[in-house]
Amino acid sequence: MEEQFDAQTVRCSKCGKVLYQGMDLKPIDEIIKSYNGKCPQCGKALSPPGMTDKAVTAKETPEKTTKKPSRLWYLLPIFLNIIGGVIGYFIIRNRDRKFAERLLIIGIIMIVVAWIASFVFAGIAYMYISGIMGSKTGKLISILDASCSDGIINVVLSNEGTESIPISSITFFLNQQETIPSGCSGSVEPLSTVVCSLGNNLSGEQVLLISGPSNAARESVFC
Ligand SMILES: [Zn+2]
Repeated sequence: MEEQFDAQTVRCSKCGKVLYQGMDLKPIDEIIKSYNGKCPQCGKALSPPGMTDKAVTAKETPEKTTKKPSRLWYLLPIFLNIIGGVIGYFIIRNRDRKFAERLLIIGIIMIVVAWIASFVFAGIAYMYISGIMGSKTGKLISILDASCSDGIINVVLSNEGTESIPISSITFFLNQQETIPSGCSGSVEPLSTVVCSLGNNLSGEQVLLISGPSNAARESVFC
């Protein structure tokens, strides 16, 4: 049969008479009009396809009759990423190559998106966990200032952490010798400072080491 080479073949749905056949696509309405709305062979009333009375069926060449695959196919790679993309690709491949390739590309994009998302989640989890850890080791001592006057060192201690640090939990060393501070008592509250005095009749370079519950601070002072 030659008809498969024709762009369009329109037949009567009742008797099968070829109403139009040609390379040029013709609107169905125009074909119906040319027969005055009736099949010349069986007298069946003709109406365009899609209407309740399917008197006319348009039959195009096989490639053109295959319907576009449903957009619902996109859900496959969206939910199953590359696996869904590959499944969709092999199912659709023979019907619509380009659509099949698109499913595959979406599958690849989805796996990249999932990969990036896992990194973001890991980052959030890390920040959350380190935040908890940080609050547990929140007794961070630092020396804001240390100066010598009249042979006595005055040191400004700061608590950079989130928890109160009792002075009794801090050990003071002056030239590697444990020294009891004076002028400070109680505790250093978070984000606040305390001034302690150390030694007497000091001269020359003094090495100050202050050891807190979770860290130590060192400073050299000239007297
Ligand atoms: Zn007919």
